[in-house]
Amino acid sequence: MGFERSNRLKELPPYLFQELDRLKVEVQSRGIDVIDLGVGDPDLPTPSHIVEALREAVKDPSTHRYPSYSGMNDFRDCVARWYEKRFGVQLNPSKEVITLIGSKEGIAHIHLAFVNPGDVVLVPSPAYPVYHSGTVLAGGKSYFMPLKAENNFLPDLDSIPPSVASQAKMMFINYPNNPTGATAEGDFFEKVVAFAKKYEIIVCHDAAYSEMSFDGYRPMSFLEIKGAKDVGIEFHSLSKTYNMTGWRIGFAVGHSEVIGGLGQVKSNIDSGAFNAIQRAAIVALEGDQSCVKEMQYIYQERRDVLVEGLKSVGLNPYVPKATFYVWCPVPEGTTSTGFAMTLLREAGIVTTPGNGFGEPGEGYIRMALTVSKERVAEAVERIRRLFRN
Ligand SMILES: *Cc1c(COP(=O)(O)O)cnc(C)c1O
Repeated sequence: MGFERSNRLKELPPYLFQELDRLKVEVQSRGIDVIDLGVGDPDLPTPSHIVEALREAVKDPSTHRYPSYSGMNDFRDCVARWYEKRFGVQLNPSKEVITLIGSKEGIAHIHLAFVNPGDVVLVPSPAYPVYHSGTVLAGGKSYFMPLKAENNFLPDLDSIPPSVASQAKMMFINYPNNPTGATAEGDFFEKVVAFAKKYEIIVCHDAAYSEMSFDGYRPMSFLEIKGAKDVGIEFHSLSKTYNMTGWRIGFAVGHSEVIGGLGQVKSNIDSGAFNAIQRAAIVALEGDQSCVKEMQYIYQERRDVLVEGLKSVGLNPYVPKATFYVWCPVPEGTTSTGFAMTLLREAGIVTTPGNGFGEPGEGYIRMALTVSKERVAEAVERIRRLFRN
């Protein structure tokens, strides 16, 4: 017996990476050693002091029961202290902080709290796909804000028609940015706050990469801007900072009513994040941060090898100040998918075609710095050989 999927599932964009996945398996089955620069998942383990903290926490039976919906008080207090220390932003831990089962969970659910069928959500493109899929699942309509090179991959708010802006309920932004590696400063965030106030829009800033930066650069929080907390929230994740993607732990902070709405949705869907994981996450945020510095250094080295290598064959990658992605225009006369296919077929290198993140990403590929420096160097060597032929 067959069952038809709901219209909302049918409306989700097709899985553009399918063909590339198939090709990867095919290339591997020919015995070719594939270098995977496709996925944004850290290759290194969670630092051992965090693993030890989980080991201890899980031995305590009090962590085995249902957690609280909005998160452990100790964890939310810790997040508030971290925000004060890292960004100079003050938060009320009981109303302005919520624990998430990974930030993706919160990003996917926030729409259900505020978007009615037909409402407009302003979504960047290219982007992390969940901003748009959350809109579709809530019955909303995404208005895509193209991120263009000439605007340093920031959305041009002035180009959004007022008729669209006045129907918009929510806006997503993400800096440091996946997939472009672009960063944003206070002047941009100030424009976002003014725009959101004018049109009464909830701003959701995804700051998953705020701690993954290079050359001493320190990304700022959207909430550092005056008035930001009146219009929005910020999503955070421990996944990338502490190599904890599998642990599923993140948080959102900011406007108390927006956090409250997200909490109401969550209390009807999930039952909170495992308390033992929240205890280990406190150790991650408050313990020795030298592991973060070491990771930054490792990614920076890999970035330099890749960027220099790409430049040496005549490509023109953007040099990211943050994130572990290198965003690179494809050679003249080819497309994102075409170039990604060539790299895979002829050089055994997996990359992500930029249009997979949205149409304005056409003309680029994304390379993730998630293999060792030696493997990055090997990828560069293979690309050099490919360009010689
Ligand atoms: C990886 C990533 C996330 C998701 O992180 P989790 O906390 O593991 O769910 C969110 N946003 C962006 C832009 C990401 O790249």
